[in-house]
Amino acid sequence: MKVTLLGTGDSTGTPIIGCHCKTCEDARLKGWERKRFSVMVQNGGRVLLIDTSPDMRRQLLDTNVDRVDAVIWTHCHFDHFGGFGNFYRVQSDVRVYTLPEIHESIGRFMEFMDYKPIEVECYEEFELLGMKITLFEVNHPPVKSIGVRIECDGNVVVVSGDTNADIPKKSLEIIENPDLFIVEALAPRGRFRKHMNADEALALAKKIGARKTVLTHVGHFFPPHDIAVKRYPIGHDYQTFEFREVKLDAFFRD
Ligand SMILES: [Zn+2]
Ligand SMILES: [Zn+2]
Ligand SMILES: [Zn+2]
Repeated sequence: MKVTLLGTGDSTGTPIIGCHCKTCEDARLKGWERKRFSVMVQNGGRVLLIDTSPDMRRQLLDTNVDRVDAVIWTHCHFDHFGGFGNFYRVQSDVRVYTLPEIHESIGRFMEFMDYKPIEVECYEEFELLGMKITLFEVNHPPVKSIGVRIECDGNVVVVSGDTNADIPKKSLEIIENPDLFIVEALAPRGRFRKHMNADEALALAKKIGARKTVLTHVGHFFPPHDIAVKRYPIGHDYQTFEFREVKLDAFFRD
């Protein structure tokens, strides 16, 4: 199993159109960016996308992906599904998994799209592309939002999805001790109704006993990337984590 962070930015991405803060200017000057959120999980030559970022076309071209085998949508915000049409145009039989109510809300925007919606429920494990998947409820008011637990060859990867720190107890129980925790942190500090800050994300990682943690869904509130990365386990676009069949430490491959 190989996991790639296709986009580590928040809903606007970094740099933000029209923003000239230190971080956005640094991104323009040095040529780095944070695309909108998506995580790619590859197993046995098949491709699963967790969320379909509005930056999807660039992300799939940059990572040489010819075909998407399945999609999981975590919630109905534009930065998490808006790029679906990018591969719908070249591929018509995409299977999309999520809760019935998330299908219903995103489906309103998908009038012209031909895909296979598959309804799944939280806490009910299902098989997908040789992996065991469990969706779990998180807390991202006012919309329904889920996280994703993936188990493959004894390795466990958890993607928090968009959430504040107030995650249901039942969810915390099923995401204990992941080998990799991909967790959202919108900003280094500050309180948010819908999101976590870095301290909250790292406290959550500790609470569930994550072996390795990477922060994603990161806004321009963080310092420029080369400074932020010295202070936080902050992810970057196209960062990959590979897992072997025998449990080994995940390692970076840039
Ligand atoms: Zn988001
Ligand atoms: Zn900015
Ligand atoms: Zn959201």
